[in-house]
Amino acid sequence: MSLVIETKDLRRVYTSKTGAEVHALRGVNLRVETGAFVALKGRSGSGKTTLLNCLAGLDKPTAGLAMVLGRDVMQMSDAEATVWRREQIGLVFQSFGLLPTLSAFENIELLLRIKGDAHEARRARALECLEMVGLGKWKDHRPYEMSGGQQQRVAIARALANNAKLILADEPTGELDSKTTRELLTFFRELVEARHITMLMVSHDPLVDGYVHEVLTLKDGQVVG
Ligand code: ADP
Ligand code: MG
Repeated sequence: MSLVIETKDLRRVYTSKTGAEVHALRGVNLRVETGAFVALKGRSGSGKTTLLNCLAGLDKPTAGLAMVLGRDVMQMSDAEATVWRREQIGLVFQSFGLLPTLSAFENIELLLRIKGDAHEARRARALECLEMVGLGKWKDHRPYEMSGGQQQRVAIARALANNAKLILADEPTGELDSKTTRELLTFFRELVEARHITMLMVSHDPLVDGYVHEVLTLKDGQVVG
């Protein structure tokens, strides 16, 4: 059994504007195996986004250990974390995070350009990823010309473009109706199984239980089950 994510007693303490300490993560012990599709639930404020940000190297834990894809996230500099994230992790957000003035194709291609891929390689890869999510025909459409479900698929295609082995998704279905949510969850499940991707998905939608391999719950900054 190999682990894609392992945290030990992970803590994140913020200092609020008034100087009070906010203990967002209070000793998180998390183990996610390769190829698992895991949902992370919990009330608003329970620390879900903080945990995801710490795992992606977007935020620095205060204490504890966080191993992600074999790397000790706390030992990385910001610059190292940026490159590592770009090359190894796919991030998906509730608000899709697409650039509104760019087409679906350009949204993906831009990421590959930043990564430094050559012109032809990145064009081919962008198209391949759009086809993977069933949106090849929509490549020249801009986000506002697409449904919410389609926009989220573009965001997923972008997350996959770097051959990410781990996808971290923060409430990816939060803006979608239940029919579209079901379609997207089916797609996620197939993606995880067909491509041996590992996915940790924050959601408080009860629908997700029927699609994931495991449901974890955060409560007051700790995993309770
Ligand atoms: P969730 O995603 O589960 O809703 P968050 O991880 O966003 O929860 O927040 C967990 C706790 O940490 C909350 O009490 C929140 O107010 C606090 N928090 C999150 N980010 C910051 C920050 N940058 N500064 C201060 N407090 C924060
Ligand atoms: Mg959140």
